[in-house]
Amino acid sequence: MTFLLSPLTQKKYEHARTILSELNIRHTKKRADLLAIIYGDGSQDIHFTIDDLVQIIKKHRMDISLATLYNTLRVLVDKGRLSEVTLPMGGRIFDTDTSSHQHFYNLDTLKVSDIPQKLSFEQHFDLPKGTAISDVKVTICLKNI
Ligand SMILES: [Zn+2]
Repeated sequence: MTFLLSPLTQKKYEHARTILSELNIRHTKKRADLLAIIYGDGSQDIHFTIDDLVQIIKKHRMDISLATLYNTLRVLVDKGRLSEVTLPMGGRIFDTDTSSHQHFYNLDTLKVSDIPQKLSFEQHFDLPKGTAISDVKVTICLKNI
């Protein structure tokens, strides 16, 4: 959330316009606003919920409808520039890190974080003949002790 709240600088808008161009997404002021919030200057990956984004939009006093928000997130996910992670207890988060990685989910704090170690699953399972693992999505639930 802290990262999402930081001021929207010219550098962040330049990064947003670069992403819009790379993905061949039509440039609009609202999309540039959203991408500047989500991706910042590109120096840091973040996890966020739609509620996080709605709060930030309000704080920045931006006029962005929920429809625009959902549509933009859907396009970013469809084009592989944003990951969508379904949480074990329902709900979902978005992740600007689209590389293959796994997550911890703290049920007490509702915080999501990356598992720092690379997990490998190939050697643990007898896969059906003629198949290979194409993707693994693991979320390990934690509780505070
Ligand atoms: Zn992540």
